Order: sequence, then structure tokens, then C-alpha cells
Amino acid sequence: MKRTFTCIVCPNGCEIEAEYEGENVLSVTGNLCPKGRTYVTQELVDPQRTIASSVRVLNGELPLCSVRLTRAIPKDRIFDVMREINRQTLEAPTHIGDVVIQDVLGLGSDVIATKEIAKVS
Ligand code: SF4
Repeated sequence: MKRTFTCIVCPNGCEIEAEYEGENVLSVTGNLCPKGRTYVTQELVDPQRTIASSVRVLNGELPLCSVRLTRAIPKDRIFDVMREINRQTLEAPTHIGDVVIQDVLGLGSDVIATKEIAKVS
């Protein structure tokens, strides 16, 4: 089979034409580096994604704090994790790197804050 993948490993975003059978990659073209082939293989075997979102902040100078995952999770669990993130509320102040949810849903990834938000004085 043939399929086009857009590699998301780096900002180059290579369009990779891949020929494969099941989970075996037979050939790839269009990738600027070997990570593209690894990415295509990962996509066929166990696609992973990271999430960037935001969480409501109480008593802060801003109403929302941006958050992200510390490592990618299986693509088919994104909506479950988004639901968990949407349930959270933070109390100001928030600091970059604060753990908002540790080991979210047992997937081996933490949700961490990526914004400094001071407490309203
Ligand atoms: S193939 Fe290499 S250069 Fe191209 S987007 Fe993927 S990591 Fe970046």
C-alpha cells in the first residue's frame, strides 16, 4: 500500500510518501532525515501525539494557564486525556513546570504548566 505522511518530528514537516505492507515499511521518499522513516513506522504500529491545552486559573492575573504533556501518548487516548485536563482548575500563582496531573490516566506522561501566572493582589 502507499500513503503520504506529514512528519511532525521537527518543524520541516516533510511530506513522506511511504510504501508499506501491514506494519512493514518497504520504502520512503521525501524525508530529509532518517527520523522520517522511524516516524512512519511509529504511525503504522502505534501512532502517538502530544497535547497542548489550557486549564482554568482561580485568583490569577490571567484566567487560563497553558499546559502540555511531558511525552507523547497513544493517539486514540487524546480525547480521554483532554477530558481529564478539562476537569482541572489551578490556583494562582502557577509556575512553568508545575505538575498539573501526574501520570495522566497511567499513560506515563505528566500534564505540566507552561505559563507563569501571578496571584491577583
Ligand atoms: S523527516 Fe526529518 S527533517 Fe523531515 S520533518 Fe521528519 S524529522 Fe524533520
